[in-house]
Amino acid sequence: MKITLFWHRRDLRHHDNTGLAAALQGEHPVVPLFVFDREILDKLDNKADARVTYIFDAVETLATNTQHAGGTMLVYYGKPEQVFQQLLKEYDVAEVHTNEDYEPYARQRDATIEKLLGKHQVAFRMHKDQVIFAKDEVLTKAGTPPKVYGAYNKAWRAALQPDSFAEQPSKRLFKKENLHHLPKAPKRPTLADMGFERCEQPVPPAKLPPAAVVKNYHHTRDQPADADGTTHRSVHLRHGAMSVRELMRQANDLNDKLLDELIWRDFFMMLLWHFPDTAHESYDPKFRHIRWRNNEAEFKAWCEGRTGYPLVDAGMRQLNETGWLHNRARIATASFLIKNLLVDWKWGEQYFADKLIDYDMSNNIGNWQWTAGTGVTSSPWFRVFSPDSQLKKYDPDLAYVRQWIPEYNTDKYPAPLVDSKETRQRAIDTYRAARQ
Ligand SMILES: Cc1cc2nc3c(=O)[nH]c(=O)nc-3n(C[C@H](O)[C@H](O)[C@H](O)COP(=O)(O)OP(=O)(O)OC[C@H]3O[C@@H](n4cnc5c(N)ncnc54)[C@H](O)[C@@H]3O)c2cc1C
Repeated sequence: MKITLFWHRRDLRHHDNTGLAAALQGEHPVVPLFVFDREILDKLDNKADARVTYIFDAVETLATNTQHAGGTMLVYYGKPEQVFQQLLKEYDVAEVHTNEDYEPYARQRDATIEKLLGKHQVAFRMHKDQVIFAKDEVLTKAGTPPKVYGAYNKAWRAALQPDSFAEQPSKRLFKKENLHHLPKAPKRPTLADMGFERCEQPVPPAKLPPAAVVKNYHHTRDQPADADGTTHRSVHLRHGAMSVRELMRQANDLNDKLLDELIWRDFFMMLLWHFPDTAHESYDPKFRHIRWRNNEAEFKAWCEGRTGYPLVDAGMRQLNETGWLHNRARIATASFLIKNLLVDWKWGEQYFADKLIDYDMSNNIGNWQWTAGTGVTSSPWFRVFSPDSQLKKYDPDLAYVRQWIPEYNTDKYPAPLVDSKETRQRAIDTYRAARQ
């Protein structure tokens, strides 16, 4: 019997899933698939990585729900190319559907799989799912990718169609008639089979945030102490346990500022697709030769939240303990590392990439380069956020600081690692020299 494979990647859900809906409407019964990719997992040093547990649980839920609906989900641990070679031998695959992924590695992987499937006359059908507009869909009048967020936002909004946020019918179609049951499906790998231990970080449910949170968002989003000040849905957007369309629909109805933030996500994803080299180098060539200090001891103090600057330290401790930190603290910690300590933004980006449960290459790269002033879109290179005034502005009652630094205001809390005013000037001088 001919089957259609639907390959889940950054879309760990059955509802509102573009590629899955297309697969289920096709000619052949569908077998959902997930590959725990050894190309990615083997590079993770931390064998108690919370993201792997998160993905594992989400895949288990999908597999159970597929079973309940009368189908079978295939789950493998291996290298995608080898897994597909095996699948092509074992099953009569008519076509493969999946949702597009715009990261450099994913594009390379997908090109390899497309070639392999092509050799077997199997169509590889990719769908847009994790953004509203992708790749070349929003361009300037000159036909180039907008590099300024304001212009992108305007063009993005102008390009909206009545059905841009429309829910895809995948959940309704996810039923026995459209699925294929495999009586002898291989056993799904466990975390231990893949060499990982369980590690759970607190995440909210993968459903819409309460309306009150969204309605107040523009008032509360800049207060790191307010646990309900932002949606905390980044981890679910990263892995597609929620559809970006559902959040956009809610934001569109209730809070335009939240829609703006979600548009940043589309923006960075589009930029990474156009400028994949920004994943490993500054976009602005003038800043590829900054004389970073890269002092290892200072970097360590930053990682551990021991710089003596409370907003920076509270942020790093929140990150180390929970795998998430507030956007304001992301900006404060990143700016302090890059500008006040003159550590290469790539070091900080990598540290966040290792720790963030919502780590998303396009958002992380885009925001680190924005803060460094080196990116496609950037804060001005001479702007150095003052860690003291940021604290006064965003945590005036020190509620966030006290939450994460119990020894704050005691002699156990370290003195400032560097002088913020002197290092501000040093950063400006160093950047200026790099421009010459
Ligand atoms: C240095 C730095 C690194 C970052 N790294 C990441 C990362 O790896 N992954 C990640 O998802 N976000 C990253 N961000 C963006 C932002 O801080 C997080 O998306 C946000 O804090 C997640 O919390 P939330 O879901 O409560 O966000 P909310 O404020 O509730 O926003 C809703 C959603 O909008 C999107 N969004 C919000 N702010 C931004 C932004 N500045 N850029 C792009 N999208 C945004 C996110 O998808 C977010 O989940 C980074 C920001 C900085 C300054």
